[in-house]
Order: sequence, then C-alpha cells, then structure tokens
Amino acid sequence: MKTNHSFELAVVGGGPAGLSAACLAGVAGLQTAFWPGPERAEDLRTTALMLPAIKLLEHVGVWTDDLKAECAALARLQIRDATGRRPAAPTVTFEAHEIDKPEFGWNVPVAPLVSALNDRLKEFSSVSIFDGGVRELDCATDQTTVHSETASPVYVKAVIAADGQNSVCRQSAGISVTKWAYPQTAIVTSFAHSKPHKNVSIEFHRSAGPLTTVPLPGQRSSLVWIETDEDAEGLAQLSEEAFAKRLTRETAGALGQITDVTKRGRFHIAGSVARQFAKSRVFLVGETAHVIPPIGAQGLNLSLRDAALAVELIGAARAARDDIGARGVLEAYDRRRRVDVFPRQVAIDLLNRTLTSSFLPFQGARSLGLAALQAIGPLRRTVMQEGLAPTRGLPKVMEI
Ligand SMILES: Cc1cc2nc3c(=O)[nH]c(=O)nc-3n(C[C@H](O)[C@H](O)[C@H](O)COP(=O)(O)OP(=O)(O)OC[C@H]3O[C@@H](n4cnc5c(N)ncnc54)[C@H](O)[C@@H]3O)c2cc1C
Repeated sequence: MKTNHSFELAVVGGGPAGLSAACLAGVAGLQTAFWPGPERAEDLRTTALMLPAIKLLEHVGVWTDDLKAECAALARLQIRDATGRRPAAPTVTFEAHEIDKPEFGWNVPVAPLVSALNDRLKEFSSVSIFDGGVRELDCATDQTTVHSETASPVYVKAVIAADGQNSVCRQSAGISVTKWAYPQTAIVTSFAHSKPHKNVSIEFHRSAGPLTTVPLPGQRSSLVWIETDEDAEGLAQLSEEAFAKRLTRETAGALGQITDVTKRGRFHIAGSVARQFAKSRVFLVGETAHVIPPIGAQGLNLSLRDAALAVELIGAARAARDDIGARGVLEAYDRRRRVDVFPRQVAIDLLNRTLTSSFLPFQGARSLGLAALQAIGPLRRTVMQEGLAPTRGLPKVMEI
C-alpha cells in the first residue's frame, strides 16, 4: 500500500550525479524521494562534458541559453609533451570535425550546473525533496527503508546512491570499496589570457602530472594543474601575480600572457572503485561507485552514464510491471557499468603512472603511443570516438 512515506525510488546525494539522476527520474515520472545531503561548499571546478552528457542535460531540460552562456565549446583537444624527457613525444591534436562533430563537448562550470539542476528538480511533481542527508538504509528483501536526519522512515523499492566518496548508502548495502591515493594534488582556477584559445583544450604532459587548460567564454580558460603534493602547496601560497607568471611559463606562451587568476581550489588526487556497482536494491552512481583522477575528462561523464543507465533500467522494469529493485535489474546495471568504467580507470591510472615515472621503457612506450596517434588517422578517430563515449551500450537518452 502506498502511503506518503512510500515511494518507488529514493535518490541520495545533491552533487551533479545525484541531481542528474533525480531529474531523469522526474522526467520518467517515477515517484521519487530525494535527499541532497549537507550544504555543498563553493565548487570552483569546471567540467568538460562530452556530447552524450550534453544530450542528457538537454533531455532533462537544463541545457538552456542561460547555462550555455557560461560554457565554451571544445572543438579541439591537444596533448603536448612537456616532460623534457627523451624520447620526446610529438604533439597530438584531436579535431572534432575528424569524427564529423562540430565539437567534442562543452566546458561547463560546476556551480551553475548544480544550481540549474536544483532549480529544474523543483518542477517535477513526482519528486519530493527532503531536507538534509540520509543516516542509513535498512535493506530488506522486498523493500528498503531510508532513515534520514529529518524525516520519518521512508519505504522504497530501489535506491540510487550518489552520496559521494564516503557514501553511507554504499555501506548500508554492504558493498566494500577499494581506495588508493596518488602523491599528487590538482589546483583548479580560471584565468584570462592575451591570445584566443580558439576552443582548444591543451593537456601539457609534465613529469609531475598533466596541466590542462580548458576554454571558457571569451578570452578565459579554466585550469586543472596536477602537481606533487609538496609543489602544489607552494603554488597555493603564491600571490596572484606570481601564480599568473608561473602559469604563463608552464603553458609556454600557448595562450599568451596570463592575468586575472580567480580563487584557487585544491583536490587531492585519489582513485576508488566499489566491489559491486549494485546490490540489495541499491544502484551506485558517480563517485559513490568510482573515483578517477581528473585526466582526460572522464569522471562526471562516466557518472552521468551511470545515472542514465540506472534510470533507464528502473524505468524498463516498471514499464514491464516488474520489481524495479529486483536482482536481475541490479545485475544488468553492474555488468553494463563495469565494462565502461574499468578500462577507463585502468587507462587513466596507467597514463598518470607512466607520466610520473622516470623509468625509460615507460617513456619510450608513451612517446611511441602518442606518435602512433598523431600519424595514424583511423587509430586517432577510434580513440576520439571512445573518448567521447563507449561505441556500444550508451544509455538511450545519451545517444548522439
Ligand atoms: C579537479 C577535478 C576536475 C574534474 N574535471 C572533470 C572533467 O573535466 N570532466 C569530468 O567528466 N569529470 C571531471 N571531474 C570529476 C567530477 O568532478 C566528479 O566526478 C563529480 O563532481 C562527482 O560528482 P558526484 O555527484 O558523484 O559526487 P559529489 O559532487 O561528491 O556529490 C556527492 C553529494 O552527496 C552528498 N552527500 C554526502 N553524504 C550524504 C548523505 N548522507 N545523504 C545525502 N547526501 C549526502 C554531498 O553533500 C554531495 O552533494 C573532475 C574532478 C576533479 C577533482
């Protein structure tokens, strides 16, 4: 029997992954209870979202002119060897038009994205928004009880858990997680530059980790600068002028003179992966399921594919009048997300480790790999297609 304390679905977590899942559930008309969790700190990041992710934002109705005005198209992606090691790798440029696309995606600032998703969520009559966070889930065979900080217990048939790296939902479902750390920190900020970026994102491969500039509207770009923990501490202490000067040097004048650096944020580089992506009526989405270093713009793109597939499978089970949290639905989710997440996680881990290692054969392999990418068109196009999204098994709302 449905009471006002029972829903079909609970979505937990007010980050971009959880909010997207809740909006997708709203579009699908699922009776949903949503917990955003604690108030979020100011997010200074931007996120490069590939075309399938933009398709999802369109589908839920947040890819508006207002949001778009804060974003810039990514038409070209370039990798430049700045390790100073031998053999040096050639510069590789990926052009969206080579795969018949006007752009690979867009660079989207996280704060306005989260704000747009929050505003949109309030418009769905099938979604009830609860204050605060979830304390724990009681995972029984036939339903899950959500115990939260502010409401009486709520009963649901399935939970989409997007409550972040230290997820209480994941713990309640009895899913263990493997975590690891890299001795690196990412500094994020945005800046003005004297030369136009021409919608090119440049990844400078340095021996401490990549430094990536990503276009923003006008003559501005955002920055993800990965350094050793020690050097990142030093960079964070620099004055704005000294930081701008150092950045102008590190980017080898590619964007000209750098000025007007905004507030800097710091993120420790870590990785993690859950042992299962779904269990006991709980679907893990976003950083609750996997954390990936911010290299090659994969993290949130993967997370949005998690959210879209979870809602797609739940919606299909509901349409067939089946149990939306049944074992078969959970297993299908786990299987399909695993084949997308694992290879990307391994590739990025390897790339990061070969960059930071001075072991000569690693340098040789990296240089050869990049030389092959630059020289062999079909190989480059395959990498571009896969970088954009998996060629098979993309959730329907993200198909481009
Ligand atoms: C420097 C950097 C740059 C990046 N750049 C890119 C990029 O260019 N492209 C890309 O695709 N990805 C990128 N990423 C990855 C991307 O930013 C993350 O994958 C994404 O932000 C994770 O979103 P999330 O919603 O899973 O987690 P979070 O943003 O951590 O959200 C989790 C939410 O859960 C809430 N919560 C916690 N506990 C509870 C509870 N008990 N109950 C309810 N709610 C709770 C929290 O308050 C929070 O709002 C980058 C990451 C970093 C660090």
